[in-house]
Amino acid sequence: MAEVNSVSGPLDTADLGFTLMHEHIIVQSPGVTSNFPVWDREQEIDNAVAKVNDVMARGVKTLVDLTPGDWRDIPFVQEVVRRTGMQVIVATGIYYDVPRYFKGRSADHAAELFVRDIQEGIVDTGVNAGIIKCAADEAGIDAQVEKMLRAAARAHRATGVPISTHTHAASQVGFKQQDIFEDEGVDLGRVIIGHSGDSDDIDFLRRLIDRGSYIGMDRFGLDMLLPTDKRVATIARLCEMGYAEKMVISHDASCYFDWYDSALMRQAAPNWHFSFIPEVVIPALREAGVSDDQIRTMTEENPRRIFEQQGAY
Ligand SMILES: [Zn+2]
Repeated sequence: MAEVNSVSGPLDTADLGFTLMHEHIIVQSPGVTSNFPVWDREQEIDNAVAKVNDVMARGVKTLVDLTPGDWRDIPFVQEVVRRTGMQVIVATGIYYDVPRYFKGRSADHAAELFVRDIQEGIVDTGVNAGIIKCAADEAGIDAQVEKMLRAAARAHRATGVPISTHTHAASQVGFKQQDIFEDEGVDLGRVIIGHSGDSDDIDFLRRLIDRGSYIGMDRFGLDMLLPTDKRVATIARLCEMGYAEKMVISHDASCYFDWYDSALMRQAAPNWHFSFIPEVVIPALREAGVSDDQIRTMTEENPRRIFEQQGAY
């Protein structure tokens, strides 16, 4: 039996079930809610509980919360987990806008903090991270972003916990992430190259997979980046080509997200929420010829296999 760290303690990987591999309970700009009167915390916890209950009722058993380390609010997530019973796996790691603290310090120092989050717990919350997040975007990989990718790689090799990345698919920065991970001795089969599903370039996606990685088809509901029908058709085509075993699906949605006004967000991206995949995408995949076995592979078996590959190396 293999176990993965979750908010409610170690979880048997056999119990993960239908898993959304890239979501967020809360995404907040560091320091804002603790210094400005911008939210009603209790109201936002109630909202999050309602959203999580809704997706649980649709058969989702586990959410992987890939919020970077400096944006987390673990007590908020713990309260949502306590009130819903949802299985939630949280991340350590840093996004591509690297905080000043890390800019002036080494990759090894960051890696030590990530390892501590995984092995000893996130500050005094009692919650251990179960996955490592890192990121690169359209601007590419400067020295600071590279340092955070190397820190993620080193924390991964020290703990065996999987890596899941943010990328900008149009500029194909996922390949550069793979290059750095390889240089750090990482087995690319233990890495998910995220936001790959923002592209419908089959050759690009096939090349990411052929280097060994999983790809995240993980922004369902962000139709302004790529419409749902194109995301569905891309997954269906890759399934036909035999790649169901290398894809995971998700929304990259949040219960609380402070980057934009929430009413505007709902208007701009009405489908960007946790329940869109079980409600709309799964039936659309079936309609596009994806079999129930392939759907189970992407939603249950791949997440389980990703978390079952364990051990430092
Ligand atoms: Zn995300």
